[in-house]
Amino acid sequence: MADNFMSLVPLKVNKSEVSSTAEKVIDWLLSQKIIKDPKTDCVLGSNDGYPPGDNYNSILNSYDHDLLGLRTNGLDVIRTREVFHNGGNGLDSICCPTCSTNIIGSDWGILIDEWYNETGKDTVTCLECKAVHSIIDYKFDPTWAFGNVGFTFWNWPSFTNQFINDLEIITRKSMAIVYGRL
Ligand SMILES: [Zn+2]
Repeated sequence: MADNFMSLVPLKVNKSEVSSTAEKVIDWLLSQKIIKDPKTDCVLGSNDGYPPGDNYNSILNSYDHDLLGLRTNGLDVIRTREVFHNGGNGLDSICCPTCSTNIIGSDWGILIDEWYNETGKDTVTCLECKAVHSIIDYKFDPTWAFGNVGFTFWNWPSFTNQFINDLEIITRKSMAIVYGRL
């Protein structure tokens, strides 16, 4: 069976803010009993994750009966520079944030490598409007996000807008939502 995931990625978190951002979110999720300690082997990959807590349904759009029965059902907190993509399920477009010109036919992958390696050469000049933006500020469809910290929920159903708003208040960042499947 394929596993679905949803990554919530606070944008523009610099490295000095990674620990505090991660801890604020984890503390709040634990206090609300949305997740629980201790971490277990409940996420894909080499990390351990936080299993769903007693109140996990409080952040879901519709009541879920199935999550607790799944082997992969936890929260993985990623604290490293990461391209949060949709699991290799393809992209429809990558558009200039100024004029929406689609650059998907270009060599954009190189720019992502530059961002990942922090070379400072991750900007692109739009051929259409001449605006200069980092590749990470382009609009990826389906959504990709780029950051130093992220929260990946495995196989959780869709979240309420209230939950996303709460996380934006807690982190003081806007939150990208990346849906994927492995
Ligand atoms: Zn443009």
